[in-house]
Amino acid sequence: MSGDVSIATETWAGLERVMGRYGDAPGTARGGSGGDPSSASRRLQSARTEVRGVTASGPTLICVAAVHGNEPAAVIALQRVFDALDKLRPPCRGRFVGLTGNLAALSQGRRFVVSDLNRQWTPRHIDAIRRSSPDEWSVENREQIELSKALDQEFAATASSVYFIDMHTTSAHGAPFVVLSDTLRNRAFALSFPVPIVLGLEERVGGTLPGYVSDLGHITMGFEAGQHDDPASVDIHEAAVWRALFATGMIDAAKVPEADAMRDRLIQAARGAPKLLDIRHRHHVRDEDGFVMEPGYVNFQAVSKGDILARDRSGPIRASRDCHVLLPLYQTQGGDGFFLSRPVRPAWLALSAWLRRLRLGALAHWLPGVRKDPSRINTLLVNPMVARWLVTEFFHLLGFRQRGREDGRLVFTRRE
Ligand SMILES: [Zn+2]
Repeated sequence: MSGDVSIATETWAGLERVMGRYGDAPGTARGGSGGDPSSASRRLQSARTEVRGVTASGPTLICVAAVHGNEPAAVIALQRVFDALDKLRPPCRGRFVGLTGNLAALSQGRRFVVSDLNRQWTPRHIDAIRRSSPDEWSVENREQIELSKALDQEFAATASSVYFIDMHTTSAHGAPFVVLSDTLRNRAFALSFPVPIVLGLEERVGGTLPGYVSDLGHITMGFEAGQHDDPASVDIHEAAVWRALFATGMIDAAKVPEADAMRDRLIQAARGAPKLLDIRHRHHVRDEDGFVMEPGYVNFQAVSKGDILARDRSGPIRASRDCHVLLPLYQTQGGDGFFLSRPVRPAWLALSAWLRRLRLGALAHWLPGVRKDPSRINTLLVNPMVARWLVTEFFHLLGFRQRGREDGRLVFTRRE
């Protein structure tokens, strides 16, 4: 996966929140400008180009790059796709929008400046910022308000479906993958990408941007393209964006000469990785832990129970089971040391889709040890002492996600 040129040295001064828009009526395109596509000034010019009239007839695809500022691969990839669209001008049913996530952190080449912009997307946090004076906003709070305004504008401009991709890279190398909040609609979208699908991350990590957008009812996924500074990650992100444009029916793949090459690029990069995994464990890291990942781990690497994964002040940290490592932390910023995941048989997807269509989840509160939360809709409280045979997987099958533990009860909410 590793290329010979680093992309870490790009400069991003002047990049704007809206990187580009494409679409509206057949045969029209975002206006472009000539010049060297690798130069920052070219990117700047593109960012300032405005879109013409918008039609509500097709879906909207929103791709957000660099919510983490040390992950510029998606910015370059989106710029490449907009440049290609300018040249090819294929008919587009609907609207494609590229947004930049954390402009301040991107310009500094850091994951974040004050706080992680991909961990604070809760309605409560957004309300609290809005109620405070803009003079008091932290760097990331300001970024969040600007980004949420840009998103709200896009959501309001369409009467049709919104597809949303949060584009990331990782500090470790390894195959690309989709991170999925497992609703049936999200799943259908994710299955059009020939890369591994990772379930359950949103149960371990709160306040993510795709979680927030999914809760608003839009079709969402996260896409992890590879290592932060690897030029191959740009190629993978580029291929994923094209895949999204085809899968949503916005652009006809027959009109894009590179369409097959883009699909093959994803297939090639994902070769050998498990198709479907469920996150079983997150190793949380605090600043004072002195956490250091053992060198050499890559995404999807199989480990055995007892293998040393990392070390901190308390000594070695070992794998608690046979599993696959995901997102091992090889950077200084970030609270997720690593995740442990387990392959899931793809038949599980079919079974759970069937159970959900039967709406069996609506009857789950009749089970022993399970009751409805009187104060929250679509929420179940599960007494793990009584319902000990009802494991989390069972509620996943029925379309619930685990929200955590309150007063000794497990809290599950229905995703749809
Ligand atoms: Zn990231």
